[in-house]
Amino acid sequence: MNPESETRQLWTADIRGNFDMGTFFGEVICVHGHPVRLFNVHRHHIVTCDMCSTYIHVGSNLMSCWRQENSDVWEQNRRSIEGYRLID
Ligand SMILES: [Zn+2]
Repeated sequence: MNPESETRQLWTADIRGNFDMGTFFGEVICVHGHPVRLFNVHRHHIVTCDMCSTYIHVGSNLMSCWRQENSDVWEQNRRSIEGYRLID
């Protein structure tokens, strides 16, 4: 087996719904090339694609910035994805 084919075998993209999970939570993109938003609802980090009307939970407490936010911000964020489909 040559090294090139080995690399291809090790790298398998993590695709969930319309999201390509990348290599860490800050790298999540929409497979359709749509712009995505990364924001917090309390300590939970959410990535959403407004054009696909979907969102995915990418982690909790990985960024400390949620501590500077308040319940108004989280409520606004939560409302911004109301009716969107959650991708597991
Ligand atoms: Zn999309």
